[in-house]
Amino acid sequence: MNKDEIVLPRPVNGPVYDGWTLERWLLKVCEETGEAVTAYKNLKSAREKYHDFVDGLSIDDMTDPKAVYASMLQANTQHTRMSLCRELTDVITAATSALEYLGADLDERQRLQQSINESNAKRDEGRRFRA
Ligand SMILES: [Mg+2]
Repeated sequence: MNKDEIVLPRPVNGPVYDGWTLERWLLKVCEETGEAVTAYKNLKSAREKYHDFVDGLSIDDMTDPKAVYASMLQANTQHTRMSLCRELTDVITAATSALEYLGADLDERQRLQQSINESNAKRDEGRRFRA
């Protein structure tokens, strides 16, 4: 992907969501947040299983079944990491959709984000952002 190309969150607002209330949108944000927490637990568990298995393990022969198993555990950590990334992105989409439901169009959402960014830059002696 071109680094100059910015992909903004696109609110979901099609007929599937006809009749949704603000409460329903907030529940959707909570639902997606819950899915992110579950994905985090899966990632934590996958990382622990991988490290528990490979700690102190010395494998010279990559055809050793232990090497194959370690590789599978590592692949699982990568898979669960991506699941968490996707769920967190779902949270962004759900929150963006809730903002749009509240009448915040792209311009207003951008102004809100700018305001939050500026606020975060000032708080905690500017230590909320990396120098
Ligand atoms: Mg989700």
